[in-house]
Amino acid sequence: MPNATVCLCFDFDAVSGWIHGHGATDSPVKLSRGRYGPEVAAPRILDLLDRMDVPATWFTPGHTIESFPEICGEVHDCGHDVQHHGWHHTPPAKFAGREAERADFERGIETIRDLTGEKPTGYRSPSWDFSAHTLDILQELDFEWDSSLMGHDFEPYRVRELPTADPDEPYVAGEETDLLEFPVSWHRDDWPSLQFTPGRSGRPRADEEAVFDGWYEQFDWMYENVEDGVFTLTMHPQVTGQPPRLRYLEAFVESVRAKQGVEFALLNDVDRRIS
Ligand SMILES: [Zn+2]
Repeated sequence: MPNATVCLCFDFDAVSGWIHGHGATDSPVKLSRGRYGPEVAAPRILDLLDRMDVPATWFTPGHTIESFPEICGEVHDCGHDVQHHGWHHTPPAKFAGREAERADFERGIETIRDLTGEKPTGYRSPSWDFSAHTLDILQELDFEWDSSLMGHDFEPYRVRELPTADPDEPYVAGEETDLLEFPVSWHRDDWPSLQFTPGRSGRPRADEEAVFDGWYEQFDWMYENVEDGVFTLTMHPQVTGQPPRLRYLEAFVESVRAKQGVEFALLNDVDRRIS
């Protein structure tokens, strides 16, 4: 049993994030930023992961798979894990209703099954939010784990049923479900710190290397303080793939694995170990 597990994750939004997160259906510039992910960044990232011999979980919208099938096939062929990130990359609360959300889930499942031959077992919600129906749908469709919530930092936990959230009453958490949560954080995500988008919130850092150093500091804290901690790191190919950031990612991986008892793993494999 390792002392610490690191799960590198790439949210492979490509163009879908710009269409369904930013409404950029008519902006060739924004769409080109999305295309950069599969066409330029992802091949470089696959080379780096191969050279360092570390696996990664790629949360991939069905839209990305159908738009850029070759590189998505390469991700799978390289031994990385393709998991569910919506078909449209629509944040769950923005669907018209339960049926529309479930249909998007099912379409995403079929697209991944066509690519990998297997039904996805894990889910990461676009923009990290749930609707009132998301948890029910995950259970109905037999998902085993999720990686979208923020109820802990480095310890996986069981997702609870929806709480009572009456503002006039004390908060009461729902019952635990079987769904395992691998918590995420905006502070372990490349987008807010490194992706500049005019008119949107977020403050890209001038010292980009400091972002990766900050991730190492978080990892180091976990290593010192949390037994069997799981460190999830969320990156987007179109963000971390921009030069010279892969150099910083490589240094991060090298620093982390210099410590004793550290393992790089797929989230799905950690789920199997824990469940
Ligand atoms: Zn995404």
